[in-house]
Amino acid sequence: MPRNALSVLAICLFLLTCPFPAHSGPALYQYSTIDALLAGDYDGELTCGDLKKEGNLGLGTFNALDGEMVVLDGKVYQVKVSGKVAQAPDSGKTPFAVITSFNPQRVMPLQKAANLQELAKLMDQNLPTKNIFYALKIEGRFPKVVARSVPRQTRPYPPLVQAVKKQAVFNFTDVEGTILGFRCPVYVKGVNVPGYHLHFLTKDRTQGGHVLDCALENLTVQIDPIHQFTLVLPQDLEFYRLDLEKDKSGELKKVEK
Ligand code: ZN
Repeated sequence: MPRNALSVLAICLFLLTCPFPAHSGPALYQYSTIDALLAGDYDGELTCGDLKKEGNLGLGTFNALDGEMVVLDGKVYQVKVSGKVAQAPDSGKTPFAVITSFNPQRVMPLQKAANLQELAKLMDQNLPTKNIFYALKIEGRFPKVVARSVPRQTRPYPPLVQAVKKQAVFNFTDVEGTILGFRCPVYVKGVNVPGYHLHFLTKDRTQGGHVLDCALENLTVQIDPIHQFTLVLPQDLEFYRLDLEKDKSGELKKVEK
């Protein structure tokens, strides 16, 4: 191998294995926990206006579980179970949301992934560690995206695993838009979603949802490594009285997939 090629190879290997520079923006900010949401705690006190102060890219849901939240370019979008998308008012509230100031440090080419599992595997193979958080964004034309939204609930609230039984599933083919979200380490179990949690919004911002599956070809993923995590807990009696001692990983799997 010529000397030049060798040094290029060495640089590539270095880039793949070296740690990321520190995240220059604020931490990953999260309101409430995934297990509280699984337990049916669907009313939070955090407003969308206050959430936006913590970042410009994120996901979550709305009070009464009224659809899926997608935060893109600093705007909070609400994907209702009808499939309709609107910007949520600043006064709207969330029981669970995750957000960051997106500051991508790396771009990873993605040649082909036939489904979400393949996408996750492909990305995992190229991340330097599974022990930190990542925010990510994939923009472009997707051969397939399967997304869902959840119906607004009335009290007494059922657990999430019951509520998602009436979810609406949207099948998109050859669709332009943005898939965004987070990869969390396995050790956040109970607090956030271990592994990938992705939401989708079409380019015209009229459709989207929580990503159940997707396929892609010749796209790139922008990756923002995150080394700080801020968790803000609800301060109401409902949260105080939840039984959060049981392992809910089984329920989470049913809800996410
Ligand atoms: Zn989701």
